[in-house]
Amino acid sequence: MTAQLIDGNALSKQLRAQVAERAAALRARGVIPGLAVILVGENPASQVYVRNKVKACEDSGLYSVLEKHPADLSEAALLARVEALNNDPAIHGILVQLPLPAHIDAQKVIEAIAPAKDVDGFHVASAGALMTGSSGFWPCTPNGCMKMLESIHYDLRGKHAVVIGRSNIVGKPMALMLLQKNATVTLCHSATHNLKAMTLQADVIVAAVGKRNVLTADMVKPGAVVIDVGMNRNDEGKLCGDVDFDGVKEVAGYITPVPGGVGPMTITMLLVNTLEAAERC
Ligand code: NAP
Repeated sequence: MTAQLIDGNALSKQLRAQVAERAAALRARGVIPGLAVILVGENPASQVYVRNKVKACEDSGLYSVLEKHPADLSEAALLARVEALNNDPAIHGILVQLPLPAHIDAQKVIEAIAPAKDVDGFHVASAGALMTGSSGFWPCTPNGCMKMLESIHYDLRGKHAVVIGRSNIVGKPMALMLLQKNATVTLCHSATHNLKAMTLQADVIVAAVGKRNVLTADMVKPGAVVIDVGMNRNDEGKLCGDVDFDGVKEVAGYITPVPGGVGPMTITMLLVNTLEAAERC
């Protein structure tokens, strides 16, 4: 069996076209959806991520501002910048690129963002909204995974979904989103005994670990949907996921590639959240 590919680039293109249309409608009403991205320090990966986010905004007709600060910016100064953006009517979404330098308490900074502008969905108010099913911003990466499942018209009701990884930004919110769609969810982590026994029962597997080949073909039930969130480098330095793609694609029903899978969807959902933040104003 060769799995069907869920193409994150193609789906992103469609969704970004819808964002651009809705952004144009807002502009016609005099509202320009605006995202502020704050980068502290010179982490090379973070620099690439923020550039991509700002460019995606521009391409979809959103206004964006990138604030670059030196690595020795004090926590108090960063909190003051967040407060200023909270009060800036031209800004509807605020994103503080993580990781922050060690002398800054990242959680404190995230909690300083007004929940109405928390387009990354990392604020405790956003996490609480997701948990209780009330309105708030959902974290972009797991939300992008949900859109990928929607794109193949996958009905999660009664299905067994296994999520590997329990971080606050991917694994845990992913489990909650799947649960909300009536899947039966198993959340695995580094202390899980016999991961293979779990994944072999799964109709849907989401791998969000950050280690190559965490999921191999012998761990997948034939026909299962496999979503690969991981971003790693292989021996040749090329981007790869957590899933042994070449092996698993022979067993799975659907699979997401890396690159070109969840990555572009994450940025797309950031645009969607920013647009929705502006629409709610
Ligand atoms: P993280 O905070 O490091 O969490 C990794 C999780 O994996 C932890 O819960 C850990 O368990 C679990 N884990 C580690 N080894 C394991 C093993 N052998 N078996 C089962 N579980 C194991 O990472 P993250 O921020 O969630 O990111 C995960 C991956 O997704 C990374 O590669 C990251 O780069 C990527 N990512 C991609 C995107 C995208 O847009 N494509 C966005 C965000 C993240 P414990 O909790 O027990 O330590």
